[in-house]
Amino acid sequence: MSVPLLDVNAQNIPLESELQAAFTRVLQHGRFIMGPEMEVFEKEIAEMVGVKHALAVSSGTDALLLALMALDIGPGDEVLCPAFTFFATAGAVSRLGAIPVFTDICPICFNLDVNDARAKITEKTKAIIPVHLFGQSADMDAILALAEEKGLRVIEDGAQAIGAEYKGRGCGSMGDFGAYSFFPSKNLGGFGDGGMLVTNDDALAEFARVLRVHGSKPKYYHHYVGGNFRMDTLQCALLSVKVKRYAEYTAQRQANAAHYTEALSKLPGVVQADPSHCKCLSSQDAWLAGQEARIVLPVGYAHNTHIWNQYTLRVIGAGQRDGLRDYLQKAGIGCEIYYPLTLDQQPCFADLPEASLSGCEVSHRMAQEVISLPIYGELTEAQRLEVIAGIASWLSA
Ligand SMILES: *Cc1c(COP(=O)(O)O)cnc(C)c1O
Repeated sequence: MSVPLLDVNAQNIPLESELQAAFTRVLQHGRFIMGPEMEVFEKEIAEMVGVKHALAVSSGTDALLLALMALDIGPGDEVLCPAFTFFATAGAVSRLGAIPVFTDICPICFNLDVNDARAKITEKTKAIIPVHLFGQSADMDAILALAEEKGLRVIEDGAQAIGAEYKGRGCGSMGDFGAYSFFPSKNLGGFGDGGMLVTNDDALAEFARVLRVHGSKPKYYHHYVGGNFRMDTLQCALLSVKVKRYAEYTAQRQANAAHYTEALSKLPGVVQADPSHCKCLSSQDAWLAGQEARIVLPVGYAHNTHIWNQYTLRVIGAGQRDGLRDYLQKAGIGCEIYYPLTLDQQPCFADLPEASLSGCEVSHRMAQEVISLPIYGELTEAQRLEVIAGIASWLSA
């Protein structure tokens, strides 16, 4: 039996008749751009994540871009973001002529290292973009305190963390802006591209709304240069069908993660990351060596509600991760490396100033060690057992 990394049909096909009804409704009223379903969907998301304003936009990438534009980030400005994330986090910064400054990450939760961010602040630093990677919140108390102290704007990249929580607060709801993605592989996966920009600030919300439609207000009068950042009415209507079931989808992912952790931690050479342990790489290395660890399982901090966009292992030792990946692939078990290259290592950023690119050792190591397993909600028990058996047989091979 082969196990896919993700099976969107397993979630979507059971909703076929409801999705078709939503499609028919939009077809018949014909308001394909900013139709009534957009406002309904925006309200549903605002309520779910606990924010005042939500703007449906064309993608998670455009949500980030629009946030930066609304905060007037541009040429010469520096923006801190983690080196270990999806490209869009920094791509949006670069497209505006601003300079991404890459910070290192924590080897336990894979999120931005706030001490490193602090050390990289200059008088040009305007904003920080914490990413809630793999579905778990970054260290928001420390990030918000740093931002307050240094006068930085905070844009939360919640593309992988819609509905995740930090100390009871919704990921994406704590900064000046939060950005979400409905790319099909995200936890609230759509039927094409889509995203959401959220904020609690009335003035920022209003400005972002104007920028979403070419900076036009009133229509055909432009005080600003915006873009076309709208999400289709149809996409909103379809996603409203799924949003009603989102808590259930999340619970299934959480159950899968718990099952993996329970079963895998019984295998020799497998340990779970220890959040109480010192996070510096050398003491991590010593701790793992002491236990003869070959695989480190992910963990959610107790103050976080992790929504498991990915269940990501660390495979210790040069070449070991690639060995496991090849082994699983041969066995028909889906897996993926998020991410094989850190952002400071990307060719398109090679010309950034040295200060943008330095000091990302933990990120570099993680890019060599990580591998993500199938974790989607509809994964069956038999499939889960197949994944576990695959890892067990690689360990004993
Ligand atoms: C997916 C993703 C994005 C971009 O979202 P799109 O909707 O694909 O444009 C941005 N940041 C992170 C961390 C992501 O995972």
